[in-house]
Amino acid sequence: MNGANLGLSRTFLRRKAGKVAIRAVPGLILASVLAIMSAFSPLSALADDLGGTHARPVVVGAKLEQSASGTRLILISSQPLTATPFGLEKPDRLVLDLPEVNFQLAPHTGESGTGLIKSFRFGLFGFGRSRIVIDLAGPAHVASVVNAPLLKDLGATVTIELEKLDRDAFHELAGASRTSANSSAAATAATSSAHPTPPTKDPRPLVVIDPGHGGFDPGAMGASGEVEKTITLEFATTLATELERRGHVRVALTRSSDTFVSLPDRVRFARDQNAALFVSIHADTLTNAAGVQGATVYTLADHASDAEAARVAEKENRVDQQAGVDSGESDEEVVSILDDLMRRETKILSAAFAQRLVQGLETHVRLNKNPLRSAAFLVLRAPDVPSALVELGYLSSDVDRASFASPQWREEAARAIAGAIEARLPDRPSAAAQAN
Ligand SMILES: [Zn+2]
Repeated sequence: MNGANLGLSRTFLRRKAGKVAIRAVPGLILASVLAIMSAFSPLSALADDLGGTHARPVVVGAKLEQSASGTRLILISSQPLTATPFGLEKPDRLVLDLPEVNFQLAPHTGESGTGLIKSFRFGLFGFGRSRIVIDLAGPAHVASVVNAPLLKDLGATVTIELEKLDRDAFHELAGASRTSANSSAAATAATSSAHPTPPTKDPRPLVVIDPGHGGFDPGAMGASGEVEKTITLEFATTLATELERRGHVRVALTRSSDTFVSLPDRVRFARDQNAALFVSIHADTLTNAAGVQGATVYTLADHASDAEAARVAEKENRVDQQAGVDSGESDEEVVSILDDLMRRETKILSAAFAQRLVQGLETHVRLNKNPLRSAAFLVLRAPDVPSALVELGYLSSDVDRASFASPQWREEAARAIAGAIEARLPDRPSAAAQAN
C-alpha cells in the first residue's frame, strides 16, 4: 500500500468519513471514530507517510473510553496492528510491544487518563519496534486487541480492552512477563547496537560516547521546542568526529539514530567491548531556575554530593521505568572482593577523568558554579569502565540553549572534551592491551 494507489486527498477522506462510516460502522464505534477523526483529523498525514518508501503503520488518533468491564484504548491506524502485551509492577504498568509505528498524535496525548488507565506513553522503542506503556490506576490485563477495518481500505481501528484483575493475578502476570520482558530488552540491545564495533586488531583504546535518551524517551524539553535527545545525539556525533579526526582512539556510540536504548544496555555495550572510557552526554532542564546555567560533570557515588545532583540522577534514572523496562534487578550485582577492588580502581580513574574534563572545559565553555558533582546514576555503573556524565548545560537557560544551537560552541566543547579524554588514557595502559 502506498500513497500513489491510495491516491486520496484530504477532502476525499473527509467526505468518505462522513458517508462510509455511517453505513458501515455500528453505533458505539462510529461515535468514537468520528470523535477521534474530528479531534485529530490528520488522516492526510497517513497518506503522506504512505507516499514515502516506508510502509510503517501511522497512528493518527487515540482515545480512551470506559466500557462495561473496564477501559479501552482505541487507536486509529493506517494498518491493523499486532500488539504483544505484558505487565510490570511497582508501579503497575501494561506494556504493548508493536512493530515500528509512526505516531502522529496531538501534543499531550496520553497525559491524562480515565478508569483503569492513569496515563499512557508511546514511541519508537528500538530498531524497527515501537511501544505503548500504560500507567495503570489499578491491576489490570489486556483482555483483547481487536483490529476492525476503517472506511474500507483506509485503515483500522485498534481496540485494546483492559479489564480489572485482582492483585495476586496481576502479580503473577507481571512475574510471567519478567522473563519475556527481559528477553525482549536483550533483543532491543542486540538490534539497537546496530553498529557494533567489529572485533579488531586496532590497538587504540576504545571510547564509548553515550548520547542520552532517544526514540521513545525525548529527555528534557526546552522552552522553544528543543529536545534533549536531539541535542545529545548532535553533540555526541560532533565529539566522535573530533576524536576520529585526531586519530588516537577508536570511538563507538551507544546509539547513532533516534532510538531508545535502556540504561543497562548502554552500560553493557561499553563493558562488552572493553571500553577504556565511557562518556554519557545530557542536557538537563530546571523548572523555575532560568538563571542556572553551564556545564556540569558527574561521576558515580552511592550518596549524592548535593541535593541538585541527587535530583538530576533521580530524573535520569527514571527513563527506563517510563519506557517500560524493568531495571529493578541488575544482573551485574555479583559482589566479590575482586569486584570491589575493580570498582575502587574504576572509581579513582573516573574521578580523575571527571576532574580533567572540568579543567579542559573551563577555558572553553561556561561551567556551572559547582561543576564537579556525583550521584547514583545507573548509566555510570559499569564496575570496570571509568565513566562520567556530562550535562552540557540547562535547556531551561536561554544562554545554554543558544550554545547548544551553535555549531561553533559544539565544536569548541567537543575539542575540550576530546582533549580531556586523550589526556586520561595513558594512565590506563591495560586498555590498549585489552583491545588486542
Ligand atoms: Zn538527560
